[in-house]
Amino acid sequence: MKVLVADDLSAEGIDILRRGPGLSVDVRTGLKPSELEGSMGEYDALAVRSATRVTGAVIRAGRKLKVIGRAGVGVDNIDLDEATKQGVVVMNTPGGNTITVAELAVAMMMALSRHIPQATASVKHGKWEKKKFEGRELFNKSLGVIGIGNIGSVVVERCLGMKMKVLAFDPYISADAARRLGCELVSFDELLARADYVSIHVPLTEQTRNLLGKEALRKMKKGAFLINCSRGGVVDELALHEALTSGHLGGAAFDVFATEPVPPDHPLLRLENFICTPHLGASTEEAQRNVAIALAEQLVDYLCNGNIRNAVNVPSVSREVLQQLGPWLNLAHKLGALAGQLCPEALTAIEVEARGDLNQHPIKPVTVQALKGVLSQICAETVNEVSAPAVAKERGIEVIEQRRGEHQDFAASLTLRLRGKSEFSVEGTVFGRRHPRIVRVNQFDVEAVPFGHLIAIHNRDVPGVVGRVGTLLGDSAVNIGRIHLSRDREHGEAFSLINVDTPVPQSVLDGLRRLAGVLSVRQLSL
Ligand code: NAD
Repeated sequence: MKVLVADDLSAEGIDILRRGPGLSVDVRTGLKPSELEGSMGEYDALAVRSATRVTGAVIRAGRKLKVIGRAGVGVDNIDLDEATKQGVVVMNTPGGNTITVAELAVAMMMALSRHIPQATASVKHGKWEKKKFEGRELFNKSLGVIGIGNIGSVVVERCLGMKMKVLAFDPYISADAARRLGCELVSFDELLARADYVSIHVPLTEQTRNLLGKEALRKMKKGAFLINCSRGGVVDELALHEALTSGHLGGAAFDVFATEPVPPDHPLLRLENFICTPHLGASTEEAQRNVAIALAEQLVDYLCNGNIRNAVNVPSVSREVLQQLGPWLNLAHKLGALAGQLCPEALTAIEVEARGDLNQHPIKPVTVQALKGVLSQICAETVNEVSAPAVAKERGIEVIEQRRGEHQDFAASLTLRLRGKSEFSVEGTVFGRRHPRIVRVNQFDVEAVPFGHLIAIHNRDVPGVVGRVGTLLGDSAVNIGRIHLSRDREHGEAFSLINVDTPVPQSVLDGLRRLAGVLSVRQLSL
């Protein structure tokens, strides 16, 4: 398999890729968009940082492309929707640059408080302006951290060490978790009203765009400082300009801008109390090495072992969870494939229900496998883990996940319900730790191994059908591996799933359909 490294990646990362079994690696940085598009056809994987724009056209040109790896966190330079549609995994490397970005935020706070950039420029211009650059201590001041995820929480720890009082606002973190971190969780407005320094560490989402707009900036304490090392667009830059020129805020420090590189005539750049860096948050030797190594290891693990880690468009499963969930993922895929073959209807919904011990695990990866199984029977295009949820959505199929309590017969079970004009359901379990079984099809209890070739026979519950089926299969040299017969009630309807060693020829299937008592016959391949 071929890997294209299109941006600068540290040598340690490239070495790991080169040592990946069966991987060949080309390092070609600074390609023009047309050159990148022209070369993509031969590559299975693409590794980038933030410089390369991985557009929809680039992704479509990657006919063999399986994975795009971003050394770093933000994936704004990658067309995620197109990658998902084309079934390409996009992974990033969260964590690798956490400390580096947190340290920049702290450095910004100090630089703002002591006017370091302005004082440096002044001395270099031959001046000695001690009075002008009188600063403030951080000791005993209040810091408000917006977003206490990876980076925000390191900022909290570092600033507690400097004896600041730390407040935090993060709607997705519990007060307990914040307390354990040593900070006080408060409302957005309270943070703005109390903090002498506000440092932002949230992702850019529809909720956080312009989070610090005119209103919020007005609510900040007079003379307070604002630091943004997260993403451009979280702060309304024009409103900030107004707050800085009016003297309401003491100063601001930005590493990120709504448009990057920031236009040279941007009004904020003319302000003495505004300092900035050119998106240097993750730019340290240590962070670059960390993210390159992390990305290379993730790419090798995916390309060589199929393990998905830190994917942004497919549920990631840790190695430990995968060990326990593996047989269930396999079962979910097989149940999906069986349901997709037996239920030839326009679907409106697919329901995935986990029961018993299965509820200890994340359900998303199970759902994705079930969808992949169903949709690969229905769609012409290849459906994989990445594209399955998008394909379901595109087709207007609602995906429902249910968790239910204990099962009366099994320690755990998984049921798929396909809804269209009617409903079709199939249930499976895993015997021991590794032996998947289909245990129910609609109202019929069965016990079939979900692999290889199967015949599903629906018949009237009358004497002689099993014998006639066995005889015909035997006469046709089709060997039966397992057979399980079930009926809804005496003299009602019966259903059997027969595992056979070889595919059954069409003429034999037709022969089975003509047997007395037989209602329908379907051949399945799992
Ligand atoms: P993270 O996902 O670990 O943490 C983000 C936190 O923000 C989470 O705790 C989440 O609950 C919280 N959050 C989400 N929406 C919120 C809202 N509306 N209000 C308050 N909190 C909210 O992410 P991280 O790794 O800590 O990264 C934080 C930011 O830093 C991201 O925007 C990331 O892109 C950016 N970043 C910048 C650089 C740089 O070079 N400057 C480098 C790396 C990361």
